[in-house]
Amino acid sequence: MIRWITTVIIILLCLAPAAGYGQVYLSLSFDDPQTTVSPVLSWQQRNAHILQTLHKHKLQSILFVCGKRVNTEDGAQLLQSWDGAGHSLAHHSWSHRNFGAAGMDLATFREDFLRCDSLIKPFRHYTRLYRFPYLKEGERRAQIDSCRDFLATQQYANGYVSIDASDWYIDGLLRDTLAANPNANTGVFRDFYIRHILERSYYYDSLATALTGRKVKHVLLLHHNLLNALLLDDLIVALKQQHFIFIDAAEAYRDPLYRQHPATVPAGESIIWSMAKATGRYEDQLRYPAEDGVYEEAALRALLQQAAKH
Ligand SMILES: [Zn+2]
Repeated sequence: MIRWITTVIIILLCLAPAAGYGQVYLSLSFDDPQTTVSPVLSWQQRNAHILQTLHKHKLQSILFVCGKRVNTEDGAQLLQSWDGAGHSLAHHSWSHRNFGAAGMDLATFREDFLRCDSLIKPFRHYTRLYRFPYLKEGERRAQIDSCRDFLATQQYANGYVSIDASDWYIDGLLRDTLAANPNANTGVFRDFYIRHILERSYYYDSLATALTGRKVKHVLLLHHNLLNALLLDDLIVALKQQHFIFIDAAEAYRDPLYRQHPATVPAGESIIWSMAKATGRYEDQLRYPAEDGVYEEAALRALLQQAAKH
């Protein structure tokens, strides 16, 4: 255990920006708002905690809405609370199907798209950005091009992320833990979560700097979940201590980084991953999928087992 912690600390020190590395400019985006039941907090409390944290840090974010998850009165109330607080509302499909999968056709994509578009369109901060479910844009050239052409006819751009991560996976284990014991200590989750986001941020930022020769403005993928309801403030504070500079999502999306269409097949993942893949020069640094719970599972479960013994 001690050896493992030491290794992690050494890795983090190596990853941490040395003098001259420059800062990380980071905005936050949240996918999949929902009003489902979770341990410890009601959906209203989860939502309020996230919004209060953003307000505390004076951040405007962007919420990528999956229509089927908020097609209720509660869901409308949730969307209204974000819109009323000035955050952008963008598109994350109606059904959350993997439109990148083989066999998906444009007619299915179009119908699904229009359904969610009409749900979010009435809101004041409606923003024409589309984020593909699972960040999977397509597995065939013709399919990718037809979706891109369709989105362009709708005056939509791709709601890319630059820093992909697995907060959803950590959230799953956190919910299981709190369901079993509502008084469980969440310290292990907090430390693991902060470390995970730091690692992924430094990885994508280093790759972005190598690819573009400049410091890009990042969009981090997070989810509207219990993990962030409980730990978003701790995360932001920890990243600020590491000299991250937080910016609004709208400012980040003005970076020309997000107006590219890398010619990779399959298309998707983070825009940084995709650009790196397109060069053919970073194969040793690109895993596929780029992010997944399987990469985090062993380390997080080991920490939880260790904590359970004390
Ligand atoms: Zn999603």
